[in-house]
Amino acid sequence: MSRSNHRFGVIVWLMTGPFDASLLASHDMFRIGKDEFCVEGTAVNWILLREGRDLTLIDAGYPGDVAALEASIAEIGHRPEDVRAVLVTHAHVDHVGALNHLHERYGTPALMHPDEVPNATGERHESATPTDVAKRAWRPAVARWSLRITRAGATQHPVVAHAAAFAADGPLDLPGRPVPVHVPGHTSGSTAYLLPEAGAVATGDALVTGHPLLRRPGPQLLPSFFDHDPDRAVAALDVIGRLDADLVLPGHGDPWRGDLALAATRAARLDR
Ligand SMILES: [Zn+2]
Ligand SMILES: [Zn+2]
Repeated sequence: MSRSNHRFGVIVWLMTGPFDASLLASHDMFRIGKDEFCVEGTAVNWILLREGRDLTLIDAGYPGDVAALEASIAEIGHRPEDVRAVLVTHAHVDHVGALNHLHERYGTPALMHPDEVPNATGERHESATPTDVAKRAWRPAVARWSLRITRAGATQHPVVAHAAAFAADGPLDLPGRPVPVHVPGHTSGSTAYLLPEAGAVATGDALVTGHPLLRRPGPQLLPSFFDHDPDRAVAALDVIGRLDADLVLPGHGDPWRGDLALAATRAARLDR
């Protein structure tokens, strides 16, 4: 696993949409293996899996991350048209921001757990509000983060009308052969994706390793007010801890390598 040795200064002036037009769209990229890449946009990650000329994208950043996401695809020598599907860990705005753009421009499908589809289509809402955050965690680092994500579109509620459920249990017929694992709690349809080839698991927000609201890095849950069902989120750690992987690719924070069972047990014990 290697981290690119410079911050990719991909400067993109966002010309449309209700974002701050001077937002600097940039990304950091971790190369996980030959064909797996974990990319950080606006304090949120997406993952690219490659198989020949085809890609799978896991999660899609904030609405303001569209340019950074496309830049990350170009960075590995590909085009957005190469993405066969976006797999969604859950339908919060920081993970679905580019879905409508990719679908309208390239016809890219967006697949997720059946229980997450209503969250994506707007029939159901299972997310914390900016007020929840402000009430519980107001300090300077949080204020800076709030400003940054607001500029990236955090107060929007993208309606993903084309959201669809993935077809069956077991490995999906997509680059990287990801295996969906239902880990409800953060949202009802939260899903981790096991990547057997890389010995890794993309955990979304069911297990993170860093976040401006957390005081220290390492595998843990987000503060409980972010979870639709905090008790179920703790129970889902059991499922994650039993997976055959030693590399966590989280929705927030750096990739983390270690004993997954131990990490899950510790995360379940932490106060939050
Ligand atoms: Zn979330
Ligand atoms: Zn998130």
